[in-house]
Order: sequence, then C-alpha cells, then structure tokens
Amino acid sequence: AIDFKWIRDNKEAVSANIRNRNSNANLELVLQLYEKMLNVQKEVERLRGERNVVANKMKGKVEPSERQKLIEEGKNLKEALVTLEEDLLKLTDELQLEAQCVPNMTHPDVPIGGEDCSKIRKMVGSQHEFSFPVKDHLQLGKELDIFDFDAAAEVSGSKFYYLKNEAVMLEMALINWTLSEVMKRGFTPLTTPEIVRSSVVEKCGFQPRGENTQVYSIDGSDQCLIGTAEIPVGGIHMDSILAESLLPLKYAAFSHCFRTEAGAAGTATRGLYRVHQFSKVEMFIFCRPEESDSYHEELIQIEEDLFSSLGLHYKTLDMATGDLGAPAYRKFDVEAWMPGLGRYGEISSASNCTDYQSRRLGIRYRPSEQSSSNPKKGKGNLAPTQFIHTLNATACAIPRMIICLLENYQQEDGSVIIPQPLRPFMGGLELIAPK
Ligand code: AMP
Repeated sequence: AIDFKWIRDNKEAVSANIRNRNSNANLELVLQLYEKMLNVQKEVERLRGERNVVANKMKGKVEPSERQKLIEEGKNLKEALVTLEEDLLKLTDELQLEAQCVPNMTHPDVPIGGEDCSKIRKMVGSQHEFSFPVKDHLQLGKELDIFDFDAAAEVSGSKFYYLKNEAVMLEMALINWTLSEVMKRGFTPLTTPEIVRSSVVEKCGFQPRGENTQVYSIDGSDQCLIGTAEIPVGGIHMDSILAESLLPLKYAAFSHCFRTEAGAAGTATRGLYRVHQFSKVEMFIFCRPEESDSYHEELIQIEEDLFSSLGLHYKTLDMATGDLGAPAYRKFDVEAWMPGLGRYGEISSASNCTDYQSRRLGIRYRPSEQSSSNPKKGKGNLAPTQFIHTLNATACAIPRMIICLLENYQQEDGSVIIPQPLRPFMGGLELIAPK
C-alpha cells in the first residue's frame, strides 16, 4: 500500500528528496502511471456497474427480443471488462516497479550530499600504535593457516573463501557471543530461510530485477538468495495486523548473506573485505511509529557496546542523503580502524525504515483505545490500523569483524590475541599462533 495520493499531493517535497538522495527514481513517470491506473480503475468500476444493471434486468420479466439484446450487451461488457482488467494488472505491475525506485523520505537532521558529507556522531578509542611493521589480514591469515582463497577461487570463483582452523572457531564464537549479548537485551534469536520469493525482496525495498542488481536470482523460479536476513525477518509478519501489546518485536537473526557486488569494481576488494557470501547476525525491530527514532538510537548504542567490548577503535556516522538505501529514512554506519588495510572500513549499519517496508509488506498494528490519539474510530468502534515502523542493524558481520580482530590484535611474532569476551566461546583459547 504505497501512498501514491500522498506522493502526488507532496510532489515538490518528494522530488527534492529524490534529488538529494541522488536516486534514479522517475517521479513524473510514477505519477503518470498512477493517473492512468486511476482512470482505468474508474472505467472498470463503471463497466462493472453496467454489467450489474444488465444482470438485474435479466432477472425480471423480459420480452424475448429484449432478452436477446441484453445477452448481447452482457457479452460485450464482459469482453470489455476482461481486456480492461488485464490492462489494470499490467499498469499496476509497471507502477509498482517504477515506485520501487522512489526512496523513503529523509529525517530532517540527515546531512544533504554525497558520502563525504556524512557527519561523525562519535569517535571511540584511537589507532593502536604498533612497534613493528603491521601485516594485513591476508598475510596474517596465510601465516596462521586459517583461510584458503585459492581453493575457493577454483571451486566457486573470485571473492569466495574457505575459513580453516581457528578462523572457523572465531566465526562461530562471534556468532554465539553476539547472539548471547543481544538476547540479554531482549532480542528473540532466529535463523531464517536464505531463499525467499522475489516479491518479498522487492517489498523490503531491494531491487532483484535490473542489470546492476546486488541480488542473486534463481533461474527458472521466482526466488532469490537473501543479501541480508533483513528480508526474511521483515517478511515474517507480512500481511498481518499485530496487537499493540506485542510491540516492539525485537529479533536477532543469524543468516548467510549472498551479494553479487555488481558495480563494486575499483572499491576495496582485498581478501575478506568484499565477498559474495558471508555470515551475519542482524537485529530487526517492529515498533510503533512514534518510537522508531528512539529505537534507532538504541540499536546504534547496542552496536557501539558490542564493538567497544571487543576493544575496537571506531567512529559512528550519520550517513548523508546520497548514501542512504531506498528504504532508509536515516542510517547510522560504524567504521572501524583496520590497521593492515590502513584505513577505516564500514563494519555495520543501522537504518530506520519508518513505514517504507511495512506499507509494501502489509504490516499494521491497531492502536489500543488509550494510546490512540486519533478520534476517528474504524469498524466496531476500534481505532483504525496503522502501518508499523521497521528498523534493522548489523550486530556482527563476520568477515570484516575477522579483519578487525586479526589486524588490531596481531603480535610481532605473527600470532593474534583473542579478545577476552570471545574466549569462553572458543574453549578458552587466548591466542592464534602461526603453525
Ligand atoms: P549492509 O546490509 O549493506 O548495510 O551491510 C551490513 C554489513 O555487512 C556491512 O557493514 C559489512 O560489515 C557487511 N558486508 C556487506 N557487504 C559485504 C561484503 N560483500 N563482504 C563482506 N562483508 C559485507
């Protein structure tokens, strides 16, 4: 239920938002298709009305010659309706496809501009001083015998990897530690399907169709591999009305993520930094609209707590308009220092998607009598339903976290210290030593 009427009535603001966000949405086309659809809808309703009039007349007493005329008329109306209803379906599909590109509106505090305009919210820690030449994670991984990129390139292609030995334990430890931390904060753990319908991907605001898609589609089916657990978790309450007493719903989902990384040529691609498949624990919240801004703060705080517990040096950014995905109303990224790569790298991102996904996924809630500020009552004197808000945030994306840990905790002899919180999840292991 995209609110096209609202988009039409707020054309100037929507258009400025599209410009600010450097989006390729074609608002003129969306509005044209919308008007066309309204006209066809009206015509369909008019013809249905006429068909009913004819049908009612047939029920009464009619002269045989008149009856013949009515049958003819009914037949013509039915044929016209079939054609028009087909047109309506096609138009609706075209409109939905175009409308997918129209981004969410933007929080007023978001800096306007490209990536460089993103604002630093917080800086935690400082760059670790090393008394020896630092190695990057690729070199460390080789010496520690914990990755195999060569075999993965043969078996799968570039940007795939095997983890081996302690790296496997490290991945499992990161997942289990992260889940246990977010469960303490009231999140329900989930594992999810990793193949989903393309329609759900689209309803979450991702674009599985088109040339430069980040989404792997499965040939000969209407299904895709997930790029993030945000999609199956967003879909878990699709087409439902949630009781207000259930809100907020907080989930922490572990999944594998699959990304084509189309258009990523020229960006940082060394080693584990940008790969086609990785593991991630993702937080997701369904909440009442008036609470989404404060849950957004809560999510970024949880991320910061987790990264601080692991002793990382990082900065938190309020991302500029040009760097927001279509569903996000506001996005906070965390960039951590990676000494071997010699730069900060994005390790997580937390987005408030307001009602962008819930409108498309059909997720509403019914405010209780007390909390409803709307004096208008719907059916049976109940408050009318409203779309809920959704938020998502990375709790731990494994490959870049492994980069951070190896590069920040490396020792002169090539060994790597395991941060304290992860040790109980690695059978007490304190150090990964060269073989
Ligand atoms: P996103 O869902 O795009 O906001 O990504 C969430 C997090 O997943 C990022 O902050 C990265 O830590 C990680 N990530 C995203 N894409 C990749 C990739 N291709 N390879 C490795 N990690 C990735």
